[in-house]
Amino acid sequence: GGTMPIATVNPATGATLETFEAYGGEEVERRIAAAAAAFDHHRTTTFAERAALLHRAADLLDADRQEIARTMTTEMGKPVAAARAEAAKCARTMRWYADRAAGLLADEHPAGSDVADSGAVRAVVRYRPLGVVLAVMPWNFPLWQVVRFAAPALMAGNTGLLKHASNVPRTALYLEDLFRRAGYPEGCFQTLLIGSAAVEGVLRDPRVAAATLTGSEGAGRAVASVAGDEIKKTVLELGGSDPYLVMPSADLDAAVATAVPARVQNNGQSCIAAKRFIVHSEVHDAFRDRFTAAMAALAVGDPMDEAVDVGPLATEQGRADLEELVDDALAQGAAATCGGRRPPGLAAGWYYEPTVLTGIAEGMRVHREEVFGPVAALYRAGDLDEAIALANGTSFGLGSNAWTRDPAEVERLSRDLQAGGVFFNGMTVSHPALPFGGVKRSGYGRELSGHGIREFCNITTLWHG
Ligand code: NAP
Repeated sequence: GGTMPIATVNPATGATLETFEAYGGEEVERRIAAAAAAFDHHRTTTFAERAALLHRAADLLDADRQEIARTMTTEMGKPVAAARAEAAKCARTMRWYADRAAGLLADEHPAGSDVADSGAVRAVVRYRPLGVVLAVMPWNFPLWQVVRFAAPALMAGNTGLLKHASNVPRTALYLEDLFRRAGYPEGCFQTLLIGSAAVEGVLRDPRVAAATLTGSEGAGRAVASVAGDEIKKTVLELGGSDPYLVMPSADLDAAVATAVPARVQNNGQSCIAAKRFIVHSEVHDAFRDRFTAAMAALAVGDPMDEAVDVGPLATEQGRADLEELVDDALAQGAAATCGGRRPPGLAAGWYYEPTVLTGIAEGMRVHREEVFGPVAALYRAGDLDEAIALANGTSFGLGSNAWTRDPAEVERLSRDLQAGGVFFNGMTVSHPALPFGGVKRSGYGRELSGHGIREFCNITTLWHG
């Protein structure tokens, strides 16, 4: 880390559009001081005051939807319709937290008999904010990943410092501007244009209380190590290699139709994309043939074109990493039923064809590592036990999907799948009402819902003798 230039590079063409100078030490210091000063005030505001600000930000974001969607697509290549949908979801989530934070963080009153046992006349549990929270965020959902943190954090009374991925600076600056235009006092939400090597210094600053990171395992390990050394709270949302189980009782048409967006959403670069398709022998061949046909039929091309399903990979390195994983599998005996190469018609830009790999073996990298692109790994399972063993045979544990109409199987999978979520007969989604996060190397802590807003709170016991 630390060497990536801060720049907007269009992945559909490879052209560098704009380069930014990283903030120097004095500018970072000024911004940390502003965040700390803003916290002193923001923590004393009422939920109603915070809600008015966040509603205003949501309205502005709705008005900006077309323009910010084009910015996201230009910076990281997602289909522009998906970028508009991301912006709309962010506005909805802001309103969700604006309207519910007071209830989610309401004082709790432990039962009188328990309180008396502690020697108190009465006791109250209050959710107070922690302080300045540093958010280290990835480029794949460049608005959503930030809003998912910022909406609950600001409603709880915290202030935020954003270190966004180096390839989405325009989106990062837009976010700071959005909150300023909404009327948040200076320092409540700021973007730091800094490389990853400068994150440690910010995190060690005594005025920074905690950190949340969404990104790769390596970045999570680096930030959590420093935070551990400083005894600061962290939430980590890291990689995933979600299984997608299909059992004989499944609605096969629906399972195939959903498998395609579950894998190729966001050009295949989603932490909660289904990546390993584990299909029961009885339906395996039918699933393989129909899934392959549907993947091969996708329109790959310019993400600004409304008719395109799959745009380019976000970075040249990302495509190189993906090609290495596929080539390794093919060299070791896997087969591509479709794809497995760059689309011949698209010379410029970092495109890759939607791909289905069969014959995956244990020694292959695609079996162990996260595949961040439109490449599906297909497995055959003889029975439910084998399917569960394959599903859990990974270091990750973010989301999971299971297609079955058998209640006994639903119960087994609800108990046994090692993941932060099990989505039956559908694809994994994030929604403000549902907790989101992982186990194992996918990280810890939860975002969204009441669980998310309480992560960066000081759960304070108020005891009255
Ligand atoms: P990444 O390389 O880990 O970058 C994520 C962020 O961490 C960027 O802001 C990056 O800054 C920063 N960073 C990288 N190394 C760092 C270090 N050593 N110290 C401090 N900061 C560091 O990940 P990415 O390639 O952008 O995103 C893809 C990964 O994110 C995938 O593994 C994906 O599964 C995961 N992800 C997880 C979730 C989830 O909710 N669980 C959601 C989305 C994505 P620079 O850009 O300057 O390097």
